[in-house]
Amino acid sequence: MQDLQQLKQQALNEIRNANSTSTVEQIRIKFLGRKSGLVTKIIQTLPSLSVDQKKRLGPLANQVKHNINQALNNKIIALKSPDHQTGEFFDTTLPGIRPEIGHLHPITLVSREVEEIFKSMGFQVHEGNELTDLHYNFLALNFPKDHPAMDSYDTFFIENKEKDIKLENKRVMRAHTSNMQVKIMESKKPPLRVIVPGRCFRNESTDASHEHTFYQCEGFIVDEKISVANLIYTLKEFLKAYFKKDEVKVRLRPGYFPFVEPGFELDFECMICGGKGCPVCKQTGWVELIPCGMIQQNVFKSAGYPKNKYTGFAFGMGLTRLAMMKYGITDIRLFMSGDLRFNNQF
Ligand SMILES: [Zn+2]
Repeated sequence: MQDLQQLKQQALNEIRNANSTSTVEQIRIKFLGRKSGLVTKIIQTLPSLSVDQKKRLGPLANQVKHNINQALNNKIIALKSPDHQTGEFFDTTLPGIRPEIGHLHPITLVSREVEEIFKSMGFQVHEGNELTDLHYNFLALNFPKDHPAMDSYDTFFIENKEKDIKLENKRVMRAHTSNMQVKIMESKKPPLRVIVPGRCFRNESTDASHEHTFYQCEGFIVDEKISVANLIYTLKEFLKAYFKKDEVKVRLRPGYFPFVEPGFELDFECMICGGKGCPVCKQTGWVELIPCGMIQQNVFKSAGYPKNKYTGFAFGMGLTRLAMMKYGITDIRLFMSGDLRFNNQF
């Protein structure tokens, strides 16, 4: 057994030092040659050994033969490679360079998590049009024409080449994911449980907490006899799942959005300080996160639903805000910076 191990070591050394294919062939003959190879000779003695000796020596001899053969073949490949022919040494035993795998953007990670939670509650996930028109973005959602509420959304208008284009057909980049509410209702009959995660655009000057492009997740349920209690329950269940807490305290404050009535701002107790006050909750103990409310009957009318047959609730939560809270990001502009030092952390 010792002889075999020594022969193997000797062979591998010689192979390593060989610098031409003819030398490699000579080494092959020396160790593995059919008649007088050094390893071959030992293998030829095997039949004359006792059963016990055969059992111990046989597998080792085969292994040594295999190792030497492989080293010989690798060496020939290395010697024939362009690297070797240009004089550079190619070490086939060096570990490879692991290709770098890309990273998912934190918004993508948060969006997927939010989708999974709502899917588990029976919601369908829809994608939306980012380029929309005033009809779907505002008018179908019960915004009166020339109402100041439209101005507060700082909408990006797209240049329209058509002459005499109607107000409702003017194209805009969507200012909120709510632009999909009526569009989806038009193509489906209740009961509906839908979320629409996606990008929104507003012509805002940017700072640490404002960005012209941000991510929202719209959600709505439409059925008969849906109440505010269903709204609170659904959003509480979401917050519990997202923040992995057994209990989450929420409160509703009145809020005005033309497409809901009554409209609310849903706040929840700050998870970071437990309600005592910290910079995240601006010392109030509460985090404002989700504008929501009961869907206005005029929105159902826009979708062609019969009057007063259905009720429902809608909410629009900021995915960007959720990502900032989850990862402790204090400047919203980092998300769109394209800076890999930021992206590589996720
Ligand atoms: Zn706090």
